[in-house]
Amino acid sequence: MIFYDWTIILILPGLLLGLWAQFKVKRAYAKYAKISTSRGVTAETVCRDMLSRNAEMSVSVEPVQGRLTDHFDPRSNTLRLSEGIYGSPSISAVGIAAHECGHALQQSDEYKPLLLRNTIVPVVRFGSIAYFPIFLIGLLASWEPLLYAGIICFAATLVFSLITLPVEFNASKRALTALRNGNYMTEEELDGVRAVLSAAAMTYVAAAVSSLLQLLRLLLIAGRRR
Ligand SMILES: [Zn+2]
Repeated sequence: MIFYDWTIILILPGLLLGLWAQFKVKRAYAKYAKISTSRGVTAETVCRDMLSRNAEMSVSVEPVQGRLTDHFDPRSNTLRLSEGIYGSPSISAVGIAAHECGHALQQSDEYKPLLLRNTIVPVVRFGSIAYFPIFLIGLLASWEPLLYAGIICFAATLVFSLITLPVEFNASKRALTALRNGNYMTEEELDGVRAVLSAAAMTYVAAAVSSLLQLLRLLLIAGRRR
């Protein structure tokens, strides 16, 4: 089988890094989900206050179903917090909600990497689905232009995961700054938020590493066909 040669080993480091990052996030989240901030303010209230103080635009805050489905929707300027986060005053909940506020603040400031990421989403969505059949047909037909067309499609995924890195790190940085300025928690509790958010950031690093290795693998397979 063409796809199960030695180059599959290249995928392993990314996979292991991803699993390790997920384990770290789960552990940090569980630890700080049990500890309420001493001020006892819920994630929802923190977000409303933080956004009214720091955002140039008006952002609505509403609950959304699901577990950890929290996100900022840039089309409707809505911050959606999941059931377990919305009404919770835990360090984890406030931290994750503040991170999502960070994305809303990026939008409000027209932070360039976020705008760029939003712009390329349709291309990335197409590329991530199309690359595999295109590459595979190129491989079966031994037709080089098609192989490289598949690789270019996949490269969009790598570009996306690389742009995601500054966007995510910056959202967490904004979250920590706003949490400190708003005096929503103590310095010690902020360390807990930092632990949860840096563990979450590692999952994005793992995704970028995985994409990079996968691209390398496709190039190696294509190069061998010459
Ligand atoms: Zn984020």
